[in-house]
Formats: sequence, structure tokens, C-alpha cells
Amino acid sequence: MLDLLYPPKCPFCGRVLERGEEGWCASCQQELPWTEPGDVKAVEFCDACLSPLWYKDGVREGMRRYKFEGGQGHAELFGRLMAQCFQDRWEKPIDLITWAPLHPKRKRERGYDQAELLARRVGELTGLPVESALEKTRATAVQSQTGENEARKANVEGAYRALPELDLMGKRIVLIDDVATSGATLAECASALRKAGADSVVGLTFARAR
Ligand SMILES: [Zn+2]
Repeated sequence: MLDLLYPPKCPFCGRVLERGEEGWCASCQQELPWTEPGDVKAVEFCDACLSPLWYKDGVREGMRRYKFEGGQGHAELFGRLMAQCFQDRWEKPIDLITWAPLHPKRKRERGYDQAELLARRVGELTGLPVESALEKTRATAVQSQTGENEARKANVEGAYRALPELDLMGKRIVLIDDVATSGATLAECASALRKAGADSVVGLTFARAR
């Protein structure tokens, strides 16, 4: 009944899904801008940053629907693509998964933390434990609306800290966020994790900018 009122649509192109299509449409499966295994982004304080997709075209649209149109259900598909990418491309051992959190105020406004949902989904599929390890201590301007790389870096500087109640000493961590643009948010979070004793941090985002 709900499907008749609100037929499921492809998060990337917005087309109503046909019978047999689940989560996304057949043409987007073929045509999305997939990254190659060698497309690893260098991010400060991270060993690497992996993403299944480039942040453009339908992927950008999908992310907008996910974050700003209450499309939290898309976390199921997006997280699955992230988990596949991670399992295909990362072989070193990992102790836990965490995410770059929203400021509590923004999370209240949105009703969910998009990076947390992705982290929980990746955890579910990989069997790795998911822990809340960071907090955002001040609200910042939205990174996607913050000009150049230097401005983005300044915008998030010192905005995250590791939660004292979690022992991160020697831990090898997967750090999840939705999109890597300048990498400033990931670097800031990874720096906080390392200061708290983490041994290594690998970034994993749904998409990344070129
Ligand atoms: Zn589509």
C-alpha cells in the first residue's frame, strides 16, 4: 500500500523503480561514476581514504536526497556500496568503525546523522564493531558551502575531539563520512583519534570529489 502511495525511486536519477529493481535502477548501476581501485585519496592523518564513487552527477543528487530530503533509507544501499568497496580494497586488520559526527544541534534538526547511519550499515555488513568515538564540540558552517580548501580546513579546525570514555590506544580504525571533498573533516577527525592513541585510521566515504 505504501509502495503505491510512495513508489520507491532510484536515489540517483529519481526514476520510479521497476519490478525487480531494488534500491536503485539498472541504468544507474551501470552508469554511475565508479572509482578505480587505484583512486585512493591522500588525507592527512589517514593511511588512505577509499570511496566507491566520484562525487558528481547522479551521485551528488543521491547525496542531496539522502541528507536534505529525509532519505535516510538510502543508507542501506549507500552503506552496502561502501562495505563492498572497503572489503575489495582494504586488507589490513581493523578493530573498529567510527564516523565523523554531526554537531548535536544539527543532528536534532535533521533527525539523523548521515555518517552514523552509513557507519552502522558498514558495520552490519562487515561484522566490525561500530563505536561512537568522536564528538563535534562546536557547530561549523556547512563544508559544502565553504569556499576553498584553506577555508574548509580553518572551518573545522579543533572542532572534533575523541570521547574520553572509549579506549582508543593502539586501535586500527575505519573513519566514515558521507563525502570527501577537501578531506579537511576527515583529517581533523583522524587527528583527534590519533591524539587519543589510535594506531591507524583509514577513511571510507560514499563519494569523493576529484
Ligand atoms: Zn537511477
